[in-house]
Amino acid sequence: MLALLTACLLLTGCGAKPQNGASGGLLPTASAAEKPDPNKKTSGVGFYFDTVVTITLWGAPEGLMDEIWDACARYEQLLSRTIAQSDVSRINNAGGKPVRVDPETWEILRQAKEISALTGGAFSVTIAPVTSLWTFTGTETNVIPTDEKRLSMLHLVDDQQIALGDEGTVTLPAGMQIDLGGIAKGYIADKVAELIRGRVQGGIISLGGNIYTVGSKPDGSPFSVGVRDPQSASGYLGILNTGDGTVVTSGTYERGFSFGGVRYHHILDPKTGWPSQSDLVSATFVMDSSMTADALATACIVIGSEKSLELATAQGLDAMLIRGDGTILFTPGFEEKYDYTPYISQ
Ligand code: ADP
Ligand code: MG
Repeated sequence: MLALLTACLLLTGCGAKPQNGASGGLLPTASAAEKPDPNKKTSGVGFYFDTVVTITLWGAPEGLMDEIWDACARYEQLLSRTIAQSDVSRINNAGGKPVRVDPETWEILRQAKEISALTGGAFSVTIAPVTSLWTFTGTETNVIPTDEKRLSMLHLVDDQQIALGDEGTVTLPAGMQIDLGGIAKGYIADKVAELIRGRVQGGIISLGGNIYTVGSKPDGSPFSVGVRDPQSASGYLGILNTGDGTVVTSGTYERGFSFGGVRYHHILDPKTGWPSQSDLVSATFVMDSSMTADALATACIVIGSEKSLELATAQGLDAMLIRGDGTILFTPGFEEKYDYTPYISQ
C-alpha cells in the first residue's frame, strides 16, 4: 500500500498552533544517547505562510519537531508580506532607501533575480503591486481589478531593479514591492530538509505545493509522491518514486475563484497582470532544490508548455507538465527515472 502524498494536501481543522503527536507513546523511552527507534513515527501540523504545513518523521530525536516549528516561525517573521517588521515589509516600505536584511533574505532575492532572468521575467517577485489588486480566497469578497488599475501597475514589475548591496542591503525603487509567495515555501522546505537530514530515518515535509522527502521509509524503501490530477479535487494523476528529493507542483487549480463562468487563478502573468492564460494547468519539478523548483514551476504556468519543456530540457531538469486539455508532457527520461505510474483509484 502506497503512502500517498500530494503536492496539495487538503487538510482541514488546523489552527495556527502546530500540533505534535507521537505514535510511539507520550513519554520518551529512549535516553538522549540512544538512537531513536527508526520505526517510531512522529507527525505534526502547523499553519504558516497561509499554508498548511505537515511534517512526518520516522526515528526522530526528541525535540526535532520543535526545532522545525521554530524554523518555520522564524522564516515567516522574515519573509511574510503581512508581518509589519519582516524583512519583506521593511524592504517594501523603505521608499527607495537601502535596507539591511538577514543574509537568508538577501540570498533568496539573489536567486529569485536569477530565476527571473532565466524565465524572461515570467517569474517576478516584484509582481506584488499586481497581486495586491487581486484576492483569491474563493469567497465572494474576491476582486477583479479594473483594467486601468491593473495596467498602471505593470511598469513596477521588474526583478532586475532589485539592487543587492555587498553589505547585505536590499534597495527597491520607490513604489515597487516584493512578494515571495512563489518561492519562499520552497526555500523553507529546503531548510527543513537540511535540518532533519542525517538525524532521522525518514521524513516527509509538505508545504502546500512543495513536498520534500528525506531519507527513506523505516523498511529502507523509497518514498512515493502523488501528483495531483488538476481535473479532480481529490484525485491523483500519477505516482513518482522520488527517493530523497523534492517534488514541487504549481497549479492553476490551487487558489482562485470563478466569476461569470470564468476561472481566475493566483499565478499572474507579469506582462499582463492577469491570471496566466497559457496552455498549462500544472507544472511539477523533481530535483534537490525545492526553492528553484518552486520558482520554476510558477514560471512554467506563465510561459506555457512549449517554452517550459524547452527551458527544463536545456537546463537538464526533470519536469512533468499538464496541459488544460489533459495532455501530459515529460522532460526526456522522466518516466523511467521516477518510475512514473498512472494512478488508479481503488
Ligand atoms: P502556491 O503558493 O499555491 O504554492 P505558487 O508557488 O505557484 O503557488 O506561487 C503562487 C504565488 O506566487 C501567488 O500566490 C503569488 O503570491 C505569487 N505569484 C503569482 N504570480 C507570480 C509570478 N508570475 N511570479 C512570481 N510570483 C508570483
Ligand atoms: Mg512557486
